[in-house]
Amino acid sequence: MMEKQWSLRESVAALVAGRVTSRELVMRSLARIEECDAAVGAFLLVDTEGALRAAAESDRRWTEGLPLSPLDGIPFAVKDNFCAKGLKTTCASRFLEDYVSPHDATAVSLLKGAGCVLMGKLNMDEFAMGSSTRSSALGLTRNPWDVSRVPGGSSGGSAAAVAAGEVPFALGTDTGGSVRQPASFCGVVGLKPTYGVISRYGVASFASSMDAVGVVTPSVEDAALVLECLAVRDPLDATSRSHPAPQFIRDTDQGVEGLRIGVLSEFAEAACSPRVQALLRQGIDQLVLAGAEARGASLPRPDQALLCYCALSAVEAASNLARYDGVRYGRTANGSTPMERASNSRGKYFGHEVKSRILLGTALLTDDMRESHYRPARHIREQVSEAFRALFASYDLIIGPTTPTGAFGMDERLTDLQMREMDLCTVYANLAGLPAITVPAGLDENGMPLGLQLIAPSFREELLFRGGRVLENALWRKGEGHARGL
Ligand code: GLN
Repeated sequence: MMEKQWSLRESVAALVAGRVTSRELVMRSLARIEECDAAVGAFLLVDTEGALRAAAESDRRWTEGLPLSPLDGIPFAVKDNFCAKGLKTTCASRFLEDYVSPHDATAVSLLKGAGCVLMGKLNMDEFAMGSSTRSSALGLTRNPWDVSRVPGGSSGGSAAAVAAGEVPFALGTDTGGSVRQPASFCGVVGLKPTYGVISRYGVASFASSMDAVGVVTPSVEDAALVLECLAVRDPLDATSRSHPAPQFIRDTDQGVEGLRIGVLSEFAEAACSPRVQALLRQGIDQLVLAGAEARGASLPRPDQALLCYCALSAVEAASNLARYDGVRYGRTANGSTPMERASNSRGKYFGHEVKSRILLGTALLTDDMRESHYRPARHIREQVSEAFRALFASYDLIIGPTTPTGAFGMDERLTDLQMREMDLCTVYANLAGLPAITVPAGLDENGMPLGLQLIAPSFREELLFRGGRVLENALWRKGEGHARGL
């Protein structure tokens, strides 16, 4: 049985007080990976040597009294679609199996610049397309709460690694829910900030207008701590934006007194399991008990938003993934002309899910379908954004479920539609570019974790942390925040 893992906040406090060294934290992380990653499979690569070297440098800085930040010496890991200099960045695809990044993604370099220690790269659905991590071409990841179940996806490795206590925090990406859905399945906190708040530079693109770097942590406070380090405008990413109020930690304990909360109960009733609906009611009760006002709010276009996400993300994916031509990045298959080599490489090294999205996206851009499907999808997206702007005139926060159910079995075959429905509650925040968080709040009938989701107006992440803290304290008992059984 594992010893209790420290939250990020606890590790920081121990480092600052000199009760632990970075080397000790890294050794703990390595020991935990050794102990359970054979069963969980969160990591695609563990950089033991690099981590120990970085930890030694951090310890030297602490001894000299010159830490780079309060996070100096803290171990972390990233989804394998983030570039990290000198390490492979595979996107869990056979296409990039041997691709070594020449540079760090901005998010990685900000964390390294704060003194954090990169432990390695985490498994994911190939090119971040999926909801179970089963579309990874490079390995299986299992849910640390029950290894016969999926961790969710596409950032399944990030959620599983944090839930198993292998690292105090991890980065993932969230284009339609890929940080929040696996975080919910694994009983950890998953944050998707406002679009543009964390730089996407050096992160492999899927659907650029919705891609967001997200943070997976054991607690809400931890997420605020990491976001403070990453909410920095980056000239290397044209869509990066300055955050008007990037001091998040300060506000996390302010509670929800007087906040107006919109409840997506209609939506939950239509789409979610009875257990999830009951949990939502408990969440609302707790917020009201803490002084918030809660009223029903209707979601715009619930029937259309998911389809709209599917169409738009496929179109953008088809365009983004055109760069994998067997010449510039990754592997090259045989062929007698450049065209043939490109086509053979794509045929041979992309997996089924990726190919089907590229085909769908390409089809949607043909003359006919552009008018009949793509343009209407863009229109629905605008309506969704507009409707949220209207909602936020009357509400400070929106609460709803994160996922319709808890984690399903590793061997359970879901239809395409069932798989897509895992994103039903999460795509809204991506379509509208809004910040959203999932907080673990209860268990389903199989004893698997369930999260509740909060959505805030753009650049109001502090409201997510305030509401998230209340839910976490009231519903997620202390000590339950780590996977049992491992
Ligand atoms: N599950 C969604 C999809 O497959 C979301 C993916 C993501 O957010 N990267 O499109």
